Amino acid sequence: MPEFDLGIIGGGPGGYTAALFAAKQGKKVVLFEKDSIGGVCLNKGCIPTKSILHTSEIYNKIKNCSEHGISTGDVVLDYSKVIERKNLIVQKLKKGIELALKNAKVQIVNSEAKILSKTEISADNEIYKVKQIICAAGSSPKELRGFEFDHKFILSSDDILTLERLPESILIIGSGAIGTEWARIFSNFGVQTTVIELALHLLPLADIEVSKRIERIFKTKNIKFYTQTSIEKIENKTVTLSNKEIITPDIILVAAGRTPNKAEKIDGVKYIGDVTGEIQLAHFAMKEAIEEVTNIPFNKELTPSVIYGTPEIAWAGKREQDLEPETYQKSITLISSLGKAHCDGETDGFIKLLSRNGQITGVHIIAPEASSILMQVIIAIQNNISIEKLKEICFAHPTYSEGIFDGLFNFK
Ligand SMILES: Cc1cc2nc3c(=O)[nH]c(=O)nc-3n(C[C@H](O)[C@H](O)[C@H](O)COP(=O)(O)OP(=O)(O)OC[C@H]3O[C@@H](n4cnc5c(N)ncnc54)[C@H](O)[C@@H]3O)c2cc1C
Repeated sequence: MPEFDLGIIGGGPGGYTAALFAAKQGKKVVLFEKDSIGGVCLNKGCIPTKSILHTSEIYNKIKNCSEHGISTGDVVLDYSKVIERKNLIVQKLKKGIELALKNAKVQIVNSEAKILSKTEISADNEIYKVKQIICAAGSSPKELRGFEFDHKFILSSDDILTLERLPESILIIGSGAIGTEWARIFSNFGVQTTVIELALHLLPLADIEVSKRIERIFKTKNIKFYTQTSIEKIENKTVTLSNKEIITPDIILVAAGRTPNKAEKIDGVKYIGDVTGEIQLAHFAMKEAIEEVTNIPFNKELTPSVIYGTPEIAWAGKREQDLEPETYQKSITLISSLGKAHCDGETDGFIKLLSRNGQITGVHIIAPEASSILMQVIIAIQNNISIEKLKEICFAHPTYSEGIFDGLFNFK
C-alpha cells in the first residue's frame, strides 16, 4: 500500500498550492485530480475568462480609437483565434504548474479519488495510506430549477468557453463577478447583451454605491439589465421574464452561483476552497491551503473581491450598508479628478474609503487598475496604519493611487 504524509483531493488552486507548500517542507505528497491540473481557475474560470476579456477590450478599444487620432480600416474579429490564444495561455500555465509539482516530487494520480477514512484514500483500485488529508474538490456551476443546462441554449460558465462563434444576442442570468465579466466580454464584442438579477441592484455583494454606479456604467455601455427579475418561462427560445418582458436571445448564460462538489465528509479531514461553499475565490482557496500547511494565518474578512474589465471593480473590508449610521466617515474621490484618468480616457469611477476611529475599515474602487490599488489599502487596514500615518506617504504622480491619497484628506 503506497504511503504518504499528505493526500490531497483536487488539483485546483487550493490543492496544488497545498501540495507545493507541503512538499517545500519535505513532506511526501500525493495529489489526486480526476480532470485537469489547475482546476476551475485555470481551465474554466479566472484565466480563460480574463484572456477572452482582454481580447474583447482590445477589440473595443481599436473600434473606438478615433478620438486618439488613430483611424483603422474594417476591424475584423476571428473568434476562433481568440479561443486559440486562450487555450495556449491555459496550456502554458498548466505546464508551469505541472512542472512545479514534478520538481517538488509531488505524485500526481490522474483519477477520481474517494476518501475512505481520515488516513485512507482510494483511487484506481489502489488504497493510499496517508497521515493527513486535504480535500479541495472545488465546485460546479449551479443550475436553475426548471431551466436546467441543455448546453445548447441554456449554458453554464463551462459551456460558454466552448462557443465556436459569437452569438448576436445573449441573456445573462446573475450579475455577480462571472455574470458581470461575461456581460462586459459580450458587449465589448458588440453582442446585444441583457442581464437579469434577482436582487435589488446589480453586483449584490458590492457596496451599494458601487452597485448603483455600475448600473450607470452598464447603461453607458448599452448593456441592458433588469433587477429584481427572474425567468418566468422559456418556450421555443422565447424567454418571458418575471416583469413580463419578452426577449428572444440566441443563448442564455446562467451565472447564478456555484455548488460545492460532492465530497465524503469525514472528521479529521481538512476541507478548503470552493468545496466548503464559503468564499469561492481562487486566492481564498490558495490562502486557506497555505494556512493549513504552514500555519501562516490570514484575515478572511479582508479577502479582496475583484471584477475585471473596464473599469475594474475591487473592494475589501466593510461595505457602507454593513455599518451603523453615524459610526463611520466616508470619503469619495472621483476618478475624473485624477490626471492619469484623463490621459487614459478612463474617467468613470471612484475610490471610496470608509473609516472608523481614524482608520480605514472598507475600500471600494471603480477604476482602471482597481485590483492593484486595492492591495495598498488592504495592507494599511490589516496593519492598523492610521489615516494620519498614511498621509505621510508620497504617492507617485500621475497614478490612480493618488485617489487614495486625496481621499485621506476628506476625513475630519
Ligand atoms: C468563470 C469563472 C471565473 C472566475 N474568475 C475568478 C477570478 O477572477 N478570481 C478568483 O479568485 N476566482 C475566480 N473564479 C473562482 C475560482 O475559479 C475558484 O474559486 C477556484 O478555482 C477554487 O479553487 P479550488 O481549488 O477550491 O477548486 P477547483 O478549482 O474547483 O478545483 C477542484 C478540482 O478538484 C477536482 N476533483 C473534484 N473531486 C475530485 C475527486 N473526487 N477526485 C479527484 N479530483 C477531484 C476537480 O476536477 C477540480 O479540478 C472564477 C470561477 C469561474 C467559474
